[in-house]
Amino acid sequence: MADRAQRVPENVDGAFFVDTTCIDCDTCRQLAPATFGETGQFSFVQVQPRDEGEVRAAYRALVACPTGSIGATDKAAARAAVDEFPMGLADGVYYCGFNSPKSFGGNSYFVEHPAGNWLVDAPRFVEPLARRLAERGGVRYIFLTHRDDVADAARYAERFGAERIIHRLELAAQPDSERVIEGRDPVELAPDFLAIPTPGHTRGHCALLHREFLFTGDHIWWSRNRGRLTASRDVCWYSWAEQMQSVALLGEYEFEWVLPGHGERAYFPAGEMRRQMRRLVAALQ
Ligand code: SF4
Repeated sequence: MADRAQRVPENVDGAFFVDTTCIDCDTCRQLAPATFGETGQFSFVQVQPRDEGEVRAAYRALVACPTGSIGATDKAAARAAVDEFPMGLADGVYYCGFNSPKSFGGNSYFVEHPAGNWLVDAPRFVEPLARRLAERGGVRYIFLTHRDDVADAARYAERFGAERIIHRLELAAQPDSERVIEGRDPVELAPDFLAIPTPGHTRGHCALLHREFLFTGDHIWWSRNRGRLTASRDVCWYSWAEQMQSVALLGEYEFEWVLPGHGERAYFPAGEMRRQMRRLVAALQ
């Protein structure tokens, strides 16, 4: 519960505010960019929401915030926003919301599939979200891109009897995972789901390719400041040289969406996405 007495001084006055428990994870700025800005240490309310669309987006951000750092006056509207998750992004693919402080506010995703639904990384375990996933047929698989973003995967696995999938080199983060990816070759986990080892950020980091959707974990993401795809040496915990090789490897696949754990999501038609990937590879040289 956010505390108005601890509000970030840069907030403009009004119904919404951010307090100093904010961990600067960027989630609110992704979900409600018109409302939330960045001080360099915290998010803050730069403009109070001006219309119904901005109000709804700000309440979605309040619900997704991993640390409960966003406050607002209308508690009923905040409760109503809970029902907006999982939030549809495109055909059968959803953003879960309820980001977890255990993954520093990492994004997670839900994929509907006739052969069983998937979570990609995991959100906070909250009963309203678990109920909504159950209404959509539950979760059969939980793909974990890497050690940092497992959050409450174990609780979702227990709730749904789901199979957790993680690379051998990340297994310490979820030692009782049901399926372990070995080596550096891509692995077809199920029809339409290809695990692609992308060492760099961590040693056993993997991306997941599902049709036109590439779930990239903390490997690459869209940068709103640079206006292009990016990766960061500052948050590369294993090998920057290997991460650059992994980025180049991903450029050989066809996809239209980049759905990261941290950072902005991106959509381009396949040809333009290929161009964006070439641009990224060139920028990282
Ligand atoms: S979502 Fe919460 S923790 Fe993350 S930047 Fe916004 S206010 Fe801060």
